[in-house]
Amino acid sequence: METSNILLQKFKTPFETVPFNQIKPQDFLPAIKEAIVMAKKKVEAIKQNTEPESFKNVVEALEYAGPEVELISGIFFNLHSAETNDDIQAIAKEFSPILTEYGNDISLDQELFLKIKKVWDNKDKFNLNEEQMMLLEKSYKSFVRNGALLNDKEKEVMRDISKQLSTLGLQFGDHILKETNEFLMLIDNRDDLKGLPEDVVEEAALTAKEKGQEGKWGFTLAYPSVIPFLTYASNRELRKKMYLANSTKGFKGDDQDNKEIVKSIAKLRYQKAKLLGYESHAHFVLEERMASNPKTVMSFIDNIVNHATPAAAAETEELRVYARKTDGIIDYQKWDNMYYAEKLKNEKFQVNDEMLRPYFKLEKVIDGVFQVANKLFGLSFKQKSDIPVYHADVKTYEVLDENNKHVAVFYADFHPRAGKRNGAWMTSFRGQKIINGVNIRPHIAIVCNFTKPTPTKPSLLGFQEVTTLFHEFGHALHGMLANTQYETLSGTNVYWDFVELPSQILENWAYEKECLDLFAEHYETGEKIPADLIKKIKDSSSFLEGRATLRQLSFASVDMAWHSSNPEKIQDIEVFETGIMEHMEFLPSVQGTCISTAFSHIFAGGYSAGYYSYKWAEVLDADAFEFFKGMGIFNREVANKFKESILSKGGSQHPMNLYVAFRGKEPNPEALLRRAGLVK
Ligand SMILES: [Zn+2]
Repeated sequence: METSNILLQKFKTPFETVPFNQIKPQDFLPAIKEAIVMAKKKVEAIKQNTEPESFKNVVEALEYAGPEVELISGIFFNLHSAETNDDIQAIAKEFSPILTEYGNDISLDQELFLKIKKVWDNKDKFNLNEEQMMLLEKSYKSFVRNGALLNDKEKEVMRDISKQLSTLGLQFGDHILKETNEFLMLIDNRDDLKGLPEDVVEEAALTAKEKGQEGKWGFTLAYPSVIPFLTYASNRELRKKMYLANSTKGFKGDDQDNKEIVKSIAKLRYQKAKLLGYESHAHFVLEERMASNPKTVMSFIDNIVNHATPAAAAETEELRVYARKTDGIIDYQKWDNMYYAEKLKNEKFQVNDEMLRPYFKLEKVIDGVFQVANKLFGLSFKQKSDIPVYHADVKTYEVLDENNKHVAVFYADFHPRAGKRNGAWMTSFRGQKIINGVNIRPHIAIVCNFTKPTPTKPSLLGFQEVTTLFHEFGHALHGMLANTQYETLSGTNVYWDFVELPSQILENWAYEKECLDLFAEHYETGEKIPADLIKKIKDSSSFLEGRATLRQLSFASVDMAWHSSNPEKIQDIEVFETGIMEHMEFLPSVQGTCISTAFSHIFAGGYSAGYYSYKWAEVLDADAFEFFKGMGIFNREVANKFKESILSKGGSQHPMNLYVAFRGKEPNPEALLRRAGLVK
């Protein structure tokens, strides 16, 4: 019987942590299939129940229907990201569709929906608390937003739109991928590599070799190739060539062209939103965001653009003057921008990672974030050796509060290896929830790809790696301090433009002397990081902030323009974009270039009507951190408010209410402008 499957048994490990040492890849498929059968039985019981519908016997029962499915898929996808192999990859091909089908079976179940609707229609009769109301709303809306209220004919239309959208999204992505990989700028003269760092040159030699051009150097439009080239290459003509290639992706009128595709995607999204009763796609998306509606987003963008414009104009002028002075450039262009920005930055601040690394030994930095968590929230981290791990590099800790009460289990997996994907992320192996009065505490992990130790040197982090660790640890705190009834609303399960608040706010501590003094010591001499180095890090972090702000918000504006009204009127995309961005760019526009046709975030990814979120989250963290700064960065009272109003509440209430409970008022964009030096 399936009960012999380790994944379906109660884990007999410390804190019931995942018994990685006993799980074999071939356990996953039978376990998930069995878990789905079990979950479906419970859903069936909800539907068959003849008692009058109540919050408890429908919504809450559904919430508790599939814990095994959650658990097993969580373990599987975490391994798929952090410690994959051929077996896991092969299993994923079968595992994912099974899960998608299960999700569809539930979300398209009309009988189940009618039960939920009964509860929704009578919601005032059940005396629900805020969190229960939130769960009901989330549950009801998830069906409605999928078309549950439409008639059969409309449902047919909706299915057709979704099908078309998924095909077009894939085509868009394929075109960009092809353009990115097929473009190759070959260099055979060493002089043309002037300015480029040695590792970039080595990589380019490898690229050329892979393309059968050994002895030359090759650059593609992949990020790690094009960005260093535009930043460091002193050959201006070649920079122009790379810039043009990179800014015309999907816009060349050839068979990789995306012009008609983006128009179709925007139109279909609009039709779908209309069908569901929304004014536009952006209205549909923003209903489940902290920002709530397009009007709020657009005035948010306008406000910051207005404030950043004078700074951006002055910065552009500074770059122009600098380029003229250093290289006699009289017609400063977009392809000059990253190059002179980098040069000027180095000249002005004279700070680089190699100077900083000795002060950021990994073990010290970890100790630093633990101390921050201790000072703010009274948490302590006890390293464990008896908790099973999926790789020998993974460290485990028991997290305790100031009364030595168990809070969470914390896993940390720091270094790159084959089988781990790029980047850094926080994840959980077990979510937090309360069942029958028992608070089930979470098991949280952070996974990173930090500089490895060498035989002669410990792992020494660059400053960006330090802020990344603070960032992911902030997400981890959101998970570890979770304290809600329902897992669906627990920890990081919050609206999308709110989820980066706990992570981004924590990054602020990494720039503060009071915090750095706790842990940033030279790994050989023990000398504390010098104060002037800290100041340089701070100053350089907001260098050219005006330009960067306008650039990011011009993307956000393009996104909103596509999605917040009827896109039928958009004919010439270049004209359309120029109209939106003209007042946000001070360099001459380059004919024949386009953003939308390569804007994968919004046309091939999930960020449509959401690109503003980056800036939105920055405003939240700047405004929230200003509160800490005013009271002292380790002020326990403010920290406790942050924990009680935000970290522990997850998505159990609307984020604006949580924020106001913490801050006493709505977030103020001026905090960000002040931090960025854009207003005094
Ligand atoms: Zn994040």
